Amino acid sequence: MALLDIRTYGDDVLRKKSGHVEKVTPELVQLAEDMLETMYEAAGCGLAAPQIGKNIRLVVIDISRPDDGDEKHPFIMFNPEWEEEPDSEPVTVEEGCLSIPEIWINVTRPGKVTVRYTDEKGEAREINHCEGIFARAIQHESDHLDGKLFVDKISPADRSLNESKLKKMAKKKG
Ligand SMILES: [Zn+2]
Repeated sequence: MALLDIRTYGDDVLRKKSGHVEKVTPELVQLAEDMLETMYEAAGCGLAAPQIGKNIRLVVIDISRPDDGDEKHPFIMFNPEWEEEPDSEPVTVEEGCLSIPEIWINVTRPGKVTVRYTDEKGEAREINHCEGIFARAIQHESDHLDGKLFVDKISPADRSLNESKLKKMAKKKG
């Protein structure tokens, strides 16, 4: 196990479209486990491969709160694809990102989704009726695989409120 460096806003790797994973190899499973460890260390509930510098379609998610004594419940998802369910309603809540530290802004997203992915054993999986933080994490992490960040989805008012912080963060990358 190893902790990985989390790339931050302004890093080009966060803006690239990630490639499909053809085969789940032991190396990729090890990478996913390192990503989970990195995510727990940073007290996040999701992490996508571009955030640790790899443009491949891999995300890890755990919405339990191990810090509060919850049992861990990790998901490793290769090539995740989600779709909104017919009775889904839009939900607006404050969202953050380990690559955009200390910024929390309202984002509206579908409230209920189905996700399909390949698990760490290489098996196809489908989870229906994902809601709450889980549904949000699936969408947020999937966005990373297409080079999208949650700040792309914020209102113009929130954008101008946070513009200088974001510019400063991007500038540090030089
Ligand atoms: Zn993120």
